[in-house]
Amino acid sequence: MVSVHTSPLAQPGTGDAGGMNVYVLNTARELARSGVEVEVFTRATSSDEPPTVEAAPGVLVHHLPAGPFEGLSKNDLPTQLCAFTGGLLRAEAHNRPGHYDLIHAHYWLSGQAAWVAADRWGVPLVQTFHTLAKVKNAQLAEGDSPEPIGRVVGEEQITTEADLLIANTAAEAAELQRYYGADERRVEVIHPGVDLGVFRPGDRYAARQALGLPQDALVVAFVGRIQPAKAPDVLLRGLARLRETDPLLAERIVPVFVGGPSNTDLYWLPKLAGELGLGDRVQWRTPRSGEALAQVYRAADAVAVPSYNESFGLVALEAQAAGTPVIAAKVGGLTTAVADGASGLLVDTHRADDWAAALGRLMGDGALRERLAAGARTHAALFSWQTTAEGLSGAYRRALLARSQAITLNR
Ligand code: UDP
Repeated sequence: MVSVHTSPLAQPGTGDAGGMNVYVLNTARELARSGVEVEVFTRATSSDEPPTVEAAPGVLVHHLPAGPFEGLSKNDLPTQLCAFTGGLLRAEAHNRPGHYDLIHAHYWLSGQAAWVAADRWGVPLVQTFHTLAKVKNAQLAEGDSPEPIGRVVGEEQITTEADLLIANTAAEAAELQRYYGADERRVEVIHPGVDLGVFRPGDRYAARQALGLPQDALVVAFVGRIQPAKAPDVLLRGLARLRETDPLLAERIVPVFVGGPSNTDLYWLPKLAGELGLGDRVQWRTPRSGEALAQVYRAADAVAVPSYNESFGLVALEAQAAGTPVIAAKVGGLTTAVADGASGLLVDTHRADDWAAALGRLMGDGALRERLAAGARTHAALFSWQTTAEGLSGAYRRALLARSQAITLNR
């Protein structure tokens, strides 16, 4: 696997580390469990990292030097693709000549590096984009800058070059065809998963105590990278509006934000909370993983995912697995990750009025929340990383078979 811009070992929920890290780590682990040896190549971002780390049994993560450890933003990384690709080719030539059967690249930057390596090694290239520039640009958050043309062109090239494209949902497969002209025979839909062992229902009282949250409040949580595309401001604006329409209910709601800034000013959201008169109400918590994150989901009466776009939305699935209903924007993968009316509520727009109405409906109705909480766990149980990995190994096998058939035909 190639994951240039972010390591599967990084703490997700801040900076550039998010769902892709979780995806790479969990699919690699499950593939390894099923007997597929996995090596992940990522850019080294610290002198403390050893060149190679065993992330899980059968999963090696290699840190390739490519540019300075710190100080490069994701938008600077195309300048380091030459160095990264050179490192990738040298690593294979020196340590593992002829060892790799297939490359799975994550995000467009990795696709560019992997495309050269796949060509050189004569192996299939499987690509997962995770997000698409043209889709993001079509649904930009207010004040967010559009993705550069270089990325758009880069994604178009990989769409043509890859043997197989993996889409997280049918919606993403349709976007690949509509925006990028992808050949539908080379697109496979494989849903991401969730760790149902970690994210499971539990004691809300204990969870609130662990997080220092009031027991008698109605808690609505936002979990993830704090950036305009994830629309945490939409949740705040909805709550501020609810204060006008239903002050008694709004008074009982405590919003909790778990995550760190991601290419935004550190104070962007706290400043907005202050301007909306919610400054003393909002609770801020740093990113966390595993059981500590499961506690956040359990502590919440609802988890909000107001994003402008999500190719899937792992947070929505994790919350449901922990038995917490989700209130999410009706966009992209969230329409798959959430069963509208059964495991959560989908909101059609990002307008404060609509979010206030949906929040009012969910937070004001305990019986509805209970019904959705039961549906949430049932819906989440349809997904697992093991199923995702089974889907991937099937896709890898088909890509390898198509390659060998093409070679035979060309002979
Ligand atoms: N996450 C985490 N700790 C945090 C906040 C988020 O581990 O404090 C993880 C979360 O569990 C999820 C991922 O970050 O698996 C975010 O994935 P999602 O698909 O929701 O959004 P993305 O980051 O890919 O845009």
